[in-house]
Amino acid sequence: MCGIVGYTGPRQAYPVIIKGLKRLEYRGYDSSGVALLSDGNLKVYKKKGRVTELEEEVIGKNIEANIGIGHTRWATHGEPSDRNAHPHSSASGRLAIIHNGIIENYAQIKQELVKKGYSFTSDTDTEVLLNFIEDIQKNNHNSLEEALRIALKRVSGAYCILLMDQSDPTTIIAARKGSPLVIGIGKGEHFLASDASPIIEYTKEVVYVNDYELAIVKPDELILKNLGNEKITPYITKLDMELAAIEKGGYDHFMIKEIFEQPSTIYDCLRGRLDAEAGTIRMKGVEDNIEQLKNANRIMIIACGTSWHAGLVAEYIIEELCRIPVEVEYASEFRYRNPIVHKGDVIIAISQSGETADTLVALEKAKENGAFIFGIVNAVGSSIARISHAGAYTHAGPEIGVASTKAFTGQLVVLAMMALKIAKEKGTITDARHHALILELADIPEKVDAILKNAKEIEKIGQVYKNASDFLFLGRGYNFPVALEGALKLKEISYIHAEGYPAAEMKHGPIALVDENLPVVFIATKDAYHEKIVSNMQEIKARKGKIISIVTEGDEISPGLSDHYFSIPSADELLAPILTVIPLQLLSYYVGTAKGIDVDKPRNLAKSVTVE
Ligand code: GLU
Repeated sequence: MCGIVGYTGPRQAYPVIIKGLKRLEYRGYDSSGVALLSDGNLKVYKKKGRVTELEEEVIGKNIEANIGIGHTRWATHGEPSDRNAHPHSSASGRLAIIHNGIIENYAQIKQELVKKGYSFTSDTDTEVLLNFIEDIQKNNHNSLEEALRIALKRVSGAYCILLMDQSDPTTIIAARKGSPLVIGIGKGEHFLASDASPIIEYTKEVVYVNDYELAIVKPDELILKNLGNEKITPYITKLDMELAAIEKGGYDHFMIKEIFEQPSTIYDCLRGRLDAEAGTIRMKGVEDNIEQLKNANRIMIIACGTSWHAGLVAEYIIEELCRIPVEVEYASEFRYRNPIVHKGDVIIAISQSGETADTLVALEKAKENGAFIFGIVNAVGSSIARISHAGAYTHAGPEIGVASTKAFTGQLVVLAMMALKIAKEKGTITDARHHALILELADIPEKVDAILKNAKEIEKIGQVYKNASDFLFLGRGYNFPVALEGALKLKEISYIHAEGYPAAEMKHGPIALVDENLPVVFIATKDAYHEKIVSNMQEIKARKGKIISIVTEGDEISPGLSDHYFSIPSADELLAPILTVIPLQLLSYYVGTAKGIDVDKPRNLAKSVTVE
């Protein structure tokens, strides 16, 4: 979580940092702050709330500087407040720090420092780390860089930190473990950030810093070292991203822009991979490792949140097409239990950001046990992409809205293609079914487009139910995980309590909630379970629940049972979730905006969960 920006070079640092923080605000928005260094003076400005509040705070203050660091926070230690906002200053006032992550053993270090007479102005783990560094430097008379190395060997947890020293007018020292850091290389200037979005406007040449690396960054010099003080040659990558992709482009919110981008993001995901005419799929990550994949004793899918729902859909698809047993795990559970992972097991890790802390650690653990790791991520060059043995990008482009939408459909498309490819190689699918599904996949972008053209209908339904206090989402088979996703989206974006259930399971508890005030969303498309789900609708209707249904065009039964219905084009049931989720994304968006919620930055959430 949290966004970090740094700049050193000939430009004014403040505007670069503020603009960068706004781009990174999706990562955390409890508070923000900057530290600027000029004429041997460190100036720190920080404020609870959004970056715009920081801008107001800074009006009339001295912001002249060619070097600075900025932070937008997602609080872990200490409530969101001015005093807990970053940057933090050291006891002497000489050092300033920003930090993304958690120092797990901060309490112990804090105790040691308190005994030495230190006092603290915030509740954060970050301020403890900074004073720990300063204390080491003071006692051993070593350089900031050396002191930092010593300190980092003592701390546990995750961090990306940027440090400035009042007595060094041009240098930012950075270090990372577990939280992302990208350095942009300009002409006589350097940019540092949590992801490439604040950098892209200035340079396309970047270095992704790895765990346990330290960067000493000056305007015309970038030195990378490991914690053993050995130099590492920076590996320069060219960014393949345009600025327009991270701006709102006329939409009110990133979320709705991203929902509407789905016909093209799905198309981009298929492009170069799916050849409908030839009836083939090309995926290098799968082809190069096909023996491993098709002979897997089992596949474990590890993910969190929306990506976990994509994993559940994949469980149905892979077991059906490839006949390989699949288990879907929450990364946070997997990493702390004692899972049985054998050599020959395949782990599929799904993450939009590729930085999800729980998923990353879970993967490291599985890798140690000999599992083969296949990463499905959206952010190119991210940590999960780099630690996986192989993988496939979702190619959805930067996803800024905190609630994941286009990344989810991208994940479903990648997983479906992957399953088709493995099934074909394994001989568990007939040529006819393989070909039919490829043709269906090729049609998906157009069908998504058709759904989006009727978005207004969902907007009207959203208006009717915006004051509901609870919602139930029900689906069966491939659409059961979509019911979970619909409920999650609504919770995230509208703060309405919602639960997703397999439709038949409703009778084992949730049916007790049904009365005339409860809206129940049925995903009732035409598939093998259609008759069953119609019976479930009858059961709700008999108890006076309000029914909103997502139905297949031409369905003559479900609309008659519904208070509101929304038709979508027909699709093979295996691929239907890519379509059925779209109206549910729209429903959460319209209910959220009708309630006046800032849907791009819902309370307490952050986009990329880089803390456990
Ligand atoms: N642990 C730090 C804090 O609570 C940093 C959190 C963040 O990543 O924003 O302030």
